[in-house]
Amino acid sequence: MDLSFDQQHIWHPYTSATQPLPCYGVTSASGVYLHMQDGKQLIDGMSSWWSTIHGYNHPLLNQAAKDQIDNMSHVMFGGLTHQPAIDLCRSLLEVAPQGLERVFLADSGSVAVEVAMKMAVQYWACQGNNDKYRFITPRNGYHGDTFAAMSVCDPVNGMHSLFNKVLPQQIFAPAPQTRFDQHWNEDDFIPMQELVERHHHELAALILEPVVQGAGGMRFYHPMYLQRCRQLCDQYDLLLICDEIATGFGRTGQYFACQHADISPDILCLGKGLTGGYMTLAATLCTEDVAAGVSEGQPGVFMHGPTFMGNPLACAVANASLGILATGEWQTQVNNIEHQLKHQLARCTELAAVADVRVLGAIGVVETRQPVNMAVIQRKFVEAGVWIRPFGKLVYIMPPYIIEPDQLTCLTDAIYNALK
Ligand SMILES: *Cc1c(COP(=O)(O)O)cnc(C)c1O
Repeated sequence: MDLSFDQQHIWHPYTSATQPLPCYGVTSASGVYLHMQDGKQLIDGMSSWWSTIHGYNHPLLNQAAKDQIDNMSHVMFGGLTHQPAIDLCRSLLEVAPQGLERVFLADSGSVAVEVAMKMAVQYWACQGNNDKYRFITPRNGYHGDTFAAMSVCDPVNGMHSLFNKVLPQQIFAPAPQTRFDQHWNEDDFIPMQELVERHHHELAALILEPVVQGAGGMRFYHPMYLQRCRQLCDQYDLLLICDEIATGFGRTGQYFACQHADISPDILCLGKGLTGGYMTLAATLCTEDVAAGVSEGQPGVFMHGPTFMGNPLACAVANASLGILATGEWQTQVNNIEHQLKHQLARCTELAAVADVRVLGAIGVVETRQPVNMAVIQRKFVEAGVWIRPFGKLVYIMPPYIIEPDQLTCLTDAIYNALK
């Protein structure tokens, strides 16, 4: 593998073109293993960023992809439809929180968020209210890298200063402080409440990641905060957008994280794990009220339609992935991972370098006091036979659900040893 060509000509996520960090060559992957070009195999602790929930090279997902390729890989979605899309949308609505009735198939998570935000603005505009076009969101969120999505990411982590002039200016509430497993403190919600009271006439929607704030800090907050958001949106006529792109499909121990709070959003964004990590596909679901509102007045249609909307190949694999989830086995797997992570990561709290350890569902986070040296710690992990990619002060894992206890132990041992 020509790694020097890669270094000289290829962008990787969040990297410098002039001072690139090393990249490792992968030749294939199966189960929880990445097979590296030097013959090593690494246990994947990242599920390729939350997506490969069933592991790599899964026979059922492979078969679904092969069958669909022999049928048709793609066909335009404008004016045409197909069985894989119909099956997928039917299955999504069956598992979705109550009240969600319509599905917009998007091509990546960021686009699903763009679509959700456009829906919310168009919903109010089509009812003659052109003043409700801004968004409120808690700090420490992450919703994607396109402009509208970026505008609701944490302003500090998301480098808003850099894009200040091109980003829509949104309203930021302090991040929720009560942790998932703490006693709920009602004061935690006061700032959000006050901001909505002050700004509701200009707000289209409140957008947030339910219970787990992912790339914006890996924070797990109290479900009551989410319940309060739902009540507040109802009271002040805001739509509630839940971004479950990271949390969806069982990762937090519930099928969707908003089910920890027993609420339904008006708009729901899904992505990442949707195809079991096989290819890019995302979805934005909304209620019949939102769908009807968007279709009222002028222009009478929802103004979005990607070229690869409803890609049959991606839909077919997503159907196979939802089929695997439908067996319910994920619940046992995620519970077991949670117990083992709680047990095995606890000893990290004794380390001087460690500020906090937290676990929810199949997500384990060790927060350090100082930002880690990514290149150094990455090499340590690879030497230890694991693939873990920290950022900033966060060393975290969210392994495929199929991981075996001894494989998971390799991950938690590697974290402990690296931080020691
Ligand atoms: C990853 C992520 C996105 C963006 O998805 P992409 O597929 O990377 O565009 C949006 N929201 C959340 C919560 C995410 O974790």
